[in-house]
Amino acid sequence: MRIVPISLPTPFYIGPVNVYLIAEDPITLIDTGPKTKEANEALREGLRKARVRVSDIRRIVLTHAHEDHCGLARSLRDEAKDAQVLVHSWESGHRVGRLEYEEHRALLTRAGVPPSEIVSMRRMYEGVRQYADSFEADEYSELRDEEELEFSNGALRILHTPGHTPGSCSFLREADRTVIAGDCVLKRITPNPILSPDPVDPSKRFASLAEYLVSLARLRSFAPTLVHGGHGEPVNDFEELFNRYFRAIRERQTEVIRLIPKSGVTAWEMAQQMFPGTDDVHRFLAVSEAVAHLDLAHSEGKIALELGDGKEIYRPISSN
Ligand SMILES: [Zn+2]
Ligand SMILES: [Zn+2]
Repeated sequence: MRIVPISLPTPFYIGPVNVYLIAEDPITLIDTGPKTKEANEALREGLRKARVRVSDIRRIVLTHAHEDHCGLARSLRDEAKDAQVLVHSWESGHRVGRLEYEEHRALLTRAGVPPSEIVSMRRMYEGVRQYADSFEADEYSELRDEEELEFSNGALRILHTPGHTPGSCSFLREADRTVIAGDCVLKRITPNPILSPDPVDPSKRFASLAEYLVSLARLRSFAPTLVHGGHGEPVNDFEELFNRYFRAIRERQTEVIRLIPKSGVTAWEMAQQMFPGTDDVHRFLAVSEAVAHLDLAHSEGKIALELGDGKEIYRPISSN
Protein backbone atom coordinates (compact mmCIF):
# COMPACT_ATOMS: atom_id res chain seq x y z
CA MET A 1 0.00 0.00 0.00
CA ARG A 2 1.60 3.21 -1.20
CA ILE A 3 1.24 6.29 1.08
CA VAL A 4 2.04 9.48 -0.87
CA PRO A 5 2.36 12.69 1.20
CA ILE A 6 1.33 15.89 -0.61
CA SER A 7 2.09 19.28 0.95
CA LEU A 8 -0.41 22.08 0.26
CA PRO A 9 -0.23 25.81 1.02
CA THR A 10 -2.72 27.27 3.52
CA PRO A 11 -3.61 30.89 4.33
CA PHE A 12 -3.12 30.07 8.04
CA TYR A 13 -0.34 30.91 10.45
CA ILE A 14 0.57 27.23 10.80
CA GLY A 15 1.80 27.09 7.18
CA PRO A 16 1.45 24.18 4.73
CA VAL A 17 -0.75 21.18 5.50
CA ASN A 18 0.04 17.55 4.61
CA VAL A 19 -2.57 15.39 2.94
CA TYR A 20 -1.99 11.74 2.12
CA LEU A 21 -2.89 9.85 -1.00
CA ILE A 22 -3.28 6.10 -0.60
CA ALA A 23 -2.53 5.06 -4.17
CA GLU A 24 -4.24 1.69 -3.91
CA ASP A 25 -7.75 0.53 -4.73
CA PRO A 26 -10.03 2.07 -3.64
CA ILE A 27 -8.00 5.25 -4.23
CA THR A 28 -8.23 7.21 -0.98
CA LEU A 29 -7.30 10.73 0.04
CA ILE A 30 -6.69 11.42 3.72
CA ASP A 31 -7.46 15.13 4.28
CA THR A 32 -7.88 17.60 1.44
CA GLY A 33 -6.38 21.00 2.26
CA PRO A 34 -8.29 24.29 2.56
CA LYS A 35 -10.71 25.62 -0.02
CA THR A 36 -8.28 27.94 -1.83
CA LYS A 37 -7.19 28.09 -5.46
CA GLU A 38 -3.56 27.57 -4.43
CA ALA A 39 -4.25 24.43 -2.38
CA ASN A 40 -6.51 23.05 -5.10
CA GLU A 41 -3.81 23.51 -7.75
CA ALA A 42 -1.08 22.05 -5.57
CA LEU A 43 -3.28 19.05 -4.79
CA ARG A 44 -3.92 18.40 -8.49
CA GLU A 45 -0.23 18.69 -9.20
CA GLY A 46 0.54 16.17 -6.44
CA LEU A 47 -2.09 13.77 -7.73
CA ARG A 48 -0.80 14.15 -11.28
CA LYS A 49 2.71 13.18 -10.17
CA ALA A 50 1.25 10.07 -8.56
CA ARG A 51 -0.71 9.37 -11.79
CA VAL A 52 -4.06 9.74 -10.10
CA ARG A 53 -6.97 11.88 -11.29
CA VAL A 54 -9.51 13.50 -8.98
CA SER A 55 -12.14 11.35 -10.68
CA ASP A 56 -10.24 8.22 -9.56
CA ILE A 57 -10.72 9.08 -5.87
CA ARG A 58 -13.22 6.71 -4.25
CA ARG A 59 -12.80 7.68 -0.60
CA ILE A 60 -12.08 10.97 1.17
CA VAL A 61 -11.13 10.41 4.79
CA LEU A 62 -10.83 13.33 7.22
CA THR A 63 -8.55 13.23 10.27
CA HIS A 64 -10.63 16.10 11.68
CA ALA A 65 -12.84 18.96 10.52
CA HIS A 66 -10.47 21.92 10.70
CA GLU A 67 -10.57 24.03 7.55
CA ASP A 68 -6.94 23.40 6.59
CA HIS A 69 -7.70 19.65 6.51
CA CYS A 70 -11.27 19.36 5.23
CA GLY A 71 -11.86 22.48 3.12
CA LEU A 72 -11.87 20.86 -0.32
CA ALA A 73 -13.71 17.71 0.71
CA ARG A 74 -17.05 18.68 -0.72
CA SER A 75 -15.86 19.95 -4.10
CA LEU A 76 -13.58 16.91 -4.55
CA ARG A 77 -16.45 14.64 -3.61
CA ASP A 78 -18.65 16.33 -6.20
CA GLU A 79 -15.96 16.04 -8.86
CA ALA A 80 -15.09 12.41 -8.05
CA LYS A 81 -18.66 11.24 -8.46
CA ASP A 82 -19.89 9.05 -5.64
CA ALA A 83 -16.67 9.22 -3.64
CA GLN A 84 -17.44 8.39 -0.04
CA VAL A 85 -16.54 10.97 2.65
CA LEU A 86 -15.65 9.60 6.07
CA VAL A 87 -15.26 11.52 9.32
CA HIS A 88 -15.75 10.69 13.01
CA SER A 89 -19.23 11.52 14.30
CA TRP A 90 -17.78 13.70 17.09
CA GLU A 91 -16.35 16.03 14.46
CA SER A 92 -19.56 17.99 14.19
CA GLY A 93 -18.14 21.38 13.19
CA HIS A 94 -19.17 21.22 9.58
CA ARG A 95 -22.64 19.93 10.09
CA VAL A 96 -24.00 22.37 12.60
CA GLY A 97 -21.88 25.49 12.39
CA ARG A 98 -24.44 27.84 13.90
CA LEU A 99 -25.35 25.63 16.77
CA GLU A 100 -21.72 24.95 17.48
CA TYR A 101 -21.13 28.67 17.58
CA GLU A 102 -23.83 29.19 20.24
CA GLU A 103 -22.30 26.42 22.31
CA HIS A 104 -18.87 27.93 21.86
CA ARG A 105 -20.13 31.32 22.97
CA ALA A 106 -21.54 29.81 26.17
CA LEU A 107 -18.19 28.13 26.87
CA LEU A 108 -16.26 31.35 26.22
CA THR A 109 -18.57 33.33 28.55
CA ARG A 110 -18.05 30.77 31.31
CA ALA A 111 -14.30 31.00 30.73
CA GLY A 112 -14.53 34.73 31.53
CA VAL A 113 -13.97 36.04 27.99
CA PRO A 114 -15.42 39.59 27.76
CA PRO A 115 -18.38 40.04 25.34
CA SER A 116 -16.43 42.39 23.03
CA GLU A 117 -13.73 39.73 22.65
CA ILE A 118 -16.33 37.10 21.88
CA VAL A 119 -17.63 39.31 19.07
CA SER A 120 -14.18 39.63 17.53
CA MET A 121 -13.54 35.89 17.97
CA ARG A 122 -16.77 35.26 16.10
CA ARG A 123 -15.69 37.51 13.23
CA MET A 124 -12.46 35.59 12.98
CA TYR A 125 -14.24 32.29 13.19
CA GLU A 126 -16.50 33.25 10.31
CA GLY A 127 -13.51 34.47 8.33
CA VAL A 128 -11.94 31.04 8.70
CA ARG A 129 -15.16 29.25 7.73
CA GLN A 130 -14.87 30.48 4.14
CA TYR A 131 -12.01 28.01 3.67
CA ALA A 132 -14.29 24.97 3.95
CA ASP A 133 -17.68 23.81 2.69
CA SER A 134 -20.20 22.33 5.12
CA PHE A 135 -21.66 18.86 4.92
CA GLU A 136 -25.14 17.70 5.69
CA ALA A 137 -25.51 14.82 8.12
CA ASP A 138 -26.44 12.36 5.36
CA GLU A 139 -23.49 13.25 3.13
CA TYR A 140 -20.77 11.39 4.95
CA SER A 141 -20.09 8.07 6.62
CA GLU A 142 -18.70 7.59 10.09
CA LEU A 143 -15.17 6.61 10.95
CA ARG A 144 -15.42 4.13 13.83
CA ASP A 145 -12.66 3.31 16.26
CA GLU A 146 -10.97 -0.05 15.62
CA GLU A 147 -12.64 -0.61 12.27
CA GLU A 148 -10.51 -0.90 9.16
CA LEU A 149 -10.21 0.96 5.90
CA GLU A 150 -9.60 -1.89 3.52
CA PHE A 151 -7.51 -1.71 0.37
CA SER A 152 -6.81 -4.26 -2.34
CA ASN A 153 -3.41 -4.68 -0.74
CA GLY A 154 -3.53 -4.09 3.03
CA ALA A 155 -5.59 -2.05 5.45
CA LEU A 156 -5.46 0.96 7.74
CA ARG A 157 -6.79 0.54 11.26
CA ILE A 158 -8.91 3.47 12.43
CA LEU A 159 -7.88 4.84 15.83
CA HIS A 160 -10.06 7.48 17.44
CA THR A 161 -7.46 9.79 19.01
CA PRO A 162 -9.39 12.71 20.53
CA GLY A 163 -7.66 15.74 22.04
CA HIS A 164 -6.78 18.30 19.41
CA THR A 165 -10.49 18.03 18.52
CA PRO A 166 -13.09 15.57 19.91
CA GLY A 167 -13.36 13.54 16.69
CA SER A 168 -9.69 13.47 15.64
CA CYS A 169 -8.70 10.12 14.15
CA SER A 170 -5.39 8.45 13.28
CA PHE A 171 -4.75 5.58 10.89
CA LEU A 172 -2.37 2.71 11.57
CA ARG A 173 -0.76 0.44 9.00
CA GLU A 174 0.07 -2.48 11.23
CA ALA A 175 2.45 -4.20 8.81
CA ASP A 176 5.18 -1.61 9.46
CA ARG A 177 3.58 0.38 12.33
CA THR A 178 3.21 3.53 10.26
CA VAL A 179 0.65 6.04 11.53
CA ILE A 180 -1.09 8.93 9.79
CA ALA A 181 -2.02 11.12 12.74
CA GLY A 182 -3.45 14.43 11.51
CA ASP A 183 -2.83 17.16 14.10
CA CYS A 184 -2.50 14.66 16.95
CA VAL A 185 1.26 14.39 16.37
CA LEU A 186 3.29 17.28 14.97
CA LYS A 187 7.04 17.32 14.83
CA ARG A 188 7.88 20.86 15.85
CA ILE A 189 4.91 22.06 17.88
CA THR A 190 2.83 20.68 20.70
CA PRO A 191 -0.68 20.44 19.23
CA ASN A 192 -3.14 22.91 20.62
CA PRO A 193 -6.11 21.36 22.45
CA ILE A 194 -8.91 23.49 21.01
CA LEU A 195 -11.75 24.60 23.28
CA SER A 196 -14.73 22.51 22.15
CA PRO A 197 -18.15 21.58 23.43
CA ASP A 198 -18.35 17.99 24.66
CA PRO A 199 -19.91 16.03 21.78
CA VAL A 200 -21.95 13.94 24.21
CA ASP A 201 -23.18 16.87 26.32
CA PRO A 202 -22.59 20.14 24.43
CA SER A 203 -23.37 22.24 27.50
CA LYS A 204 -20.08 20.94 28.93
CA ARG A 205 -16.52 21.42 27.79
CA PHE A 206 -14.65 18.60 26.17
CA ALA A 207 -11.77 17.48 28.44
CA SER A 208 -9.34 18.06 25.59
CA LEU A 209 -5.99 17.78 27.32
CA ALA A 210 -6.87 14.77 29.48
CA GLU A 211 -8.25 13.02 26.37
CA TYR A 212 -5.17 14.01 24.43
CA LEU A 213 -2.82 12.42 26.97
CA VAL A 214 -4.81 9.18 26.71
CA SER A 215 -4.62 9.30 22.89
CA LEU A 216 -0.86 9.84 22.93
CA ALA A 217 -0.39 6.92 25.30
CA ARG A 218 -2.56 4.78 23.07
CA LEU A 219 -0.50 5.64 19.99
CA ARG A 220 2.64 4.88 21.96
CA SER A 221 1.31 1.41 22.78
CA PHE A 222 1.62 0.56 19.06
CA ALA A 223 5.32 1.56 19.09
CA PRO A 224 5.04 3.49 15.82
CA THR A 225 8.11 3.53 13.61
CA LEU A 226 6.93 6.42 11.46
CA VAL A 227 4.23 9.02 12.10
CA HIS A 228 2.92 11.27 9.35
CA GLY A 229 1.49 14.45 10.90
CA GLY A 230 -0.85 17.09 9.53
CA HIS A 231 1.96 19.67 9.33
CA GLY A 232 5.73 19.47 8.98
CA GLU A 233 8.03 16.51 8.54
CA PRO A 234 7.26 12.94 9.57
CA VAL A 235 8.30 11.76 13.02
CA ASN A 236 10.54 8.71 13.15
CA ASP A 237 11.28 8.87 16.86
CA PHE A 238 7.83 8.86 18.41
CA GLU A 239 9.15 7.85 21.83
CA GLU A 240 11.34 10.93 22.01
CA LEU A 241 8.49 13.17 20.88
CA PHE A 242 6.10 11.53 23.34
CA ASN A 243 8.47 12.28 26.20
CA ARG A 244 8.97 15.84 25.00
CA TYR A 245 5.21 16.43 24.80
CA PHE A 246 4.68 15.02 28.28
CA ARG A 247 7.45 17.15 29.72
CA ALA A 248 6.10 20.29 28.03
CA ILE A 249 2.58 19.61 29.29
CA ARG A 250 3.76 18.90 32.85
CA GLU A 251 5.96 22.02 32.91
CA ARG A 252 3.08 24.15 31.77
CA GLN A 253 0.83 22.51 34.38
CA THR A 254 3.25 23.52 37.10
CA GLU A 255 3.45 27.07 35.75
CA VAL A 256 -0.33 27.40 35.51
CA ILE A 257 -0.85 26.19 39.08
CA ARG A 258 1.83 28.59 40.31
CA LEU A 259 0.16 31.54 38.54
CA ILE A 260 -3.23 31.08 40.23
CA PRO A 261 -3.74 33.84 42.81
CA LYS A 262 -5.51 33.10 46.11
CA SER A 263 -8.39 35.29 44.97
CA GLY A 264 -8.92 32.94 42.02
CA VAL A 265 -8.69 33.40 38.27
CA THR A 266 -10.77 32.82 35.15
CA ALA A 267 -9.31 30.98 32.16
CA TRP A 268 -9.35 34.27 30.24
CA GLU A 269 -7.28 36.01 32.92
CA MET A 270 -4.92 33.03 32.99
CA ALA A 271 -4.51 33.25 29.20
CA GLN A 272 -3.47 36.91 29.57
CA GLN A 273 -0.84 35.91 32.10
CA MET A 274 0.44 32.93 30.13
CA PHE A 275 0.51 34.72 26.79
CA PRO A 276 0.75 38.48 27.43
CA GLY A 277 0.27 40.70 24.39
CA THR A 278 -1.30 37.95 22.28
CA ASP A 279 -2.73 39.35 19.05
CA ASP A 280 -6.31 38.96 17.89
CA VAL A 281 -5.79 35.82 15.88
CA HIS A 282 -4.27 33.92 18.72
CA ARG A 283 -6.46 34.92 21.65
CA PHE A 284 -8.87 32.07 21.03
CA LEU A 285 -5.98 29.60 20.97
CA ALA A 286 -4.54 31.20 24.12
CA VAL A 287 -7.80 30.84 26.03
CA SER A 288 -8.17 27.26 24.70
CA GLU A 289 -4.75 26.42 26.06
CA ALA A 290 -5.46 28.04 29.44
CA VAL A 291 -8.79 26.20 29.80
CA ALA A 292 -7.17 22.90 28.80
CA HIS A 293 -4.48 23.21 31.46
CA LEU A 294 -6.77 24.49 34.19
CA ASP A 295 -9.26 21.69 33.52
CA LEU A 296 -6.54 19.06 33.60
CA ALA A 297 -5.20 20.41 36.91
CA HIS A 298 -8.74 20.47 38.28
CA SER A 299 -9.51 16.92 37.10
CA GLU A 300 -6.34 15.75 38.85
CA GLY A 301 -7.47 17.39 42.10
CA LYS A 302 -4.70 20.00 42.11
CA ILE A 303 -6.90 23.10 42.02
CA ALA A 304 -10.49 24.00 42.90
CA LEU A 305 -13.17 25.24 40.51
CA GLU A 306 -16.30 27.18 41.38
CA LEU A 307 -18.96 29.08 39.50
CA GLY A 308 -19.40 32.74 40.39
CA ASP A 309 -21.50 35.24 38.44
CA GLY A 310 -21.75 32.94 35.41
CA LYS A 311 -17.99 32.52 35.23
CA GLU A 312 -15.79 29.68 36.31
CA ILE A 313 -13.17 30.67 38.86
CA TYR A 314 -10.16 28.46 39.53
CA ARG A 315 -8.53 28.70 42.97
CA PRO A 316 -5.55 27.16 44.71
CA ILE A 317 -6.58 24.23 46.88
CA SER A 318 -4.79 25.09 50.13
CA SER A 319 -5.44 28.79 50.53
CA ASN A 320 -5.70 28.94 54.31
ZN1 LIG B 1 -6.36 20.98 13.40
ZN1 LIG C 1 -3.94 21.42 11.06
